[in-house]
Amino acid sequence: MLNTRREKFKRLLYAKKQAMISDSARGFKNIISGENMHILSKNIDDDSMPFLCQHENLTFRRLTYQRDIIKRIDNALERLDQGTYGRCEECDGEIGEDRLNLIPFAAYCTECQEAAEFKKTVRRILN
Ligand SMILES: [Zn+2]
Repeated sequence: MLNTRREKFKRLLYAKKQAMISDSARGFKNIISGENMHILSKNIDDDSMPFLCQHENLTFRRLTYQRDIIKRIDNALERLDQGTYGRCEECDGEIGEDRLNLIPFAAYCTECQEAAEFKKTVRRILN
C-alpha cells in the first residue's frame, strides 16, 4: 500500500477513534451524573418509567457498540503498521477502496462480511 494512502487511512481511523471516544465519554458522563435521568425526570410519572429505563439501556448499548468500534479501529491501525491493512482477514482478498472509505476499520471484504452476517442470522433463527 502506498505511503500516502496509508497516511490517509491512518488519519481517517484516528479521527473516527477520537469522535468515538468523545462521544462515549459524553454518554458515560451522562450516566454517571444522572443527566439522562434529569432530562427525563422533568415530566416523570409511572407511565414514563419504562421509557426512562429504556433510555438508560440504549445509552449503555451505544457505549458497548462504541467500545467495539474503538477495538476494531485499534486492530485496523495495527494492520496498517503490519502492512496487512486492506486485506480481508477471512479470504485474504482485497477489501474494496469504496468500502474502506466508508468503513476504514473494515476487517472483511463485503462477501465475507455478508456471509458472516448470514450465518449469524441463521444461528439466531435456529436458537
Ligand atoms: Zn473476504
